[in-house]
Amino acid sequence: MTALRAVKGMNDILPPESARWEWFEDKVRELMRRYAYQNVRTPVVEPTELFVRGIGEMTDIVEKEMYSFEDAMNGDRLTLRPEATAGIVRAMVEHNALYNGPLRLWSQVVVFRHERPQKGRYRQFHQIDVEALGHAGPDVDAEQILMCRALWRDLGLVEGRDVRLEINSLGQPDERSAHRAALIAHFEQDADSLDEDARRRLHSNPLRILDSKNPAMQSIIESAPRLMAFLGPESMAHFDAVRGVLDAAGLAYRVNPRLVRGLDYYNLTVFEWMTDHLGSQGTVCGGGRYDGLFEQLGGKATPAVGWGMGIERMLLLLESVGVAMPGAAADVYAVVPSVAALAVAMSTCEALRAVGVSVLMHAGGAEGRGSMKSQFKKADSSGARYAIVFGDSELARGEVGLKPLRDAGAAQRVVALIDLASWAATLTA
Ligand code: ATP
Ligand code: MG
Repeated sequence: MTALRAVKGMNDILPPESARWEWFEDKVRELMRRYAYQNVRTPVVEPTELFVRGIGEMTDIVEKEMYSFEDAMNGDRLTLRPEATAGIVRAMVEHNALYNGPLRLWSQVVVFRHERPQKGRYRQFHQIDVEALGHAGPDVDAEQILMCRALWRDLGLVEGRDVRLEINSLGQPDERSAHRAALIAHFEQDADSLDEDARRRLHSNPLRILDSKNPAMQSIIESAPRLMAFLGPESMAHFDAVRGVLDAAGLAYRVNPRLVRGLDYYNLTVFEWMTDHLGSQGTVCGGGRYDGLFEQLGGKATPAVGWGMGIERMLLLLESVGVAMPGAAADVYAVVPSVAALAVAMSTCEALRAVGVSVLMHAGGAEGRGSMKSQFKKADSSGARYAIVFGDSELARGEVGLKPLRDAGAAQRVVALIDLASWAATLTA
């Protein structure tokens, strides 16, 4: 029989890589605690209609990237979520969750998009997602950008060198429609230089043409009318206020008038954090304001802003920058040469674990326990910091052997069993 394989573009995350994920996730949780964002979890599967209405019919995601299927039980049209925001907004509306006032939320989500798999681009991937619901900004827009900077610092990334910020304003729907008319006129003037995708989008979603990566279209895109020129005083004031906070916080950014983002629901502030370390998969985090989405999904008008960060890309970035991420190695490997020592070894390991020490105990019955030497080899290759040796003669004296494994030449010493607790305290301090 041929062996089964994972679905293309969907990855297994195994040790030791999984330890890096946990390390990253710990940093994120700690960040959310400091910014007082509360955790939310919504289903992986939603009605297809949610994304068609929420993300927009003419977006890449809805047009060609969704995993949609029919529920075999009742024929409902369902979709594996391709992003987090629409589901969270649906949940807020459904549970009237903003009844008592605004909420700041975060979620870690698995998402699905049918794209061509490559480094940093997968069909199942993971995002950290934040949403501030019920605040008109511009303060929370800036807060969410500053949160990212705080995370970069916690992770050991350097702004400017490893990640940089681009921002733009998409204005309000009426400003966008004036710009849209000007944009269509501009592209129609030179319709021959549009590619097939652009021609198809010309009348449905011309703003998305600006996001095209086709090199042949860059000059016509470069000369296109800028949305910024169509923004009225209120939209400009919002944008200036966001910039004011970033400036005051000493955060450098570039205003990129061509930044439009791939989802239709954005207005006013949009931003992306990019890196040069990941080739064309250079956007590690993107977000913005989406004041119209609640109404679009049948809720009452609610201003909102959020971002999504790709975890796989973040980990690739951390690796390529050379950030040291701790592995999953235990503090202690318990070497137990004979079964006679098992009972004492077990209870000692339990006591160590109870005070927070991580202990990997050599396992096996009387047969095939392996020699002391082979157990030491395993202890060493496990990456543990110490071996504790439960030798019969030491135990007879109420003692164990303690050997540092990570500094070459360090000698094994003898520790009384009753002193292990105070030794453990120095480990976990
Ligand atoms: P891109 O332009 O690279 O396709 P996007 O604009 O589609 O990105 P968003 O919808 O904003 O991406 O998703 C938020 C983040 O999720 C991105 O900034 C990126 O880090 C990550 N991401 C998006 N698509 C993928 C994918 N197919 N595989 C892995 N990560 C992804
Ligand atoms: Mg995309």
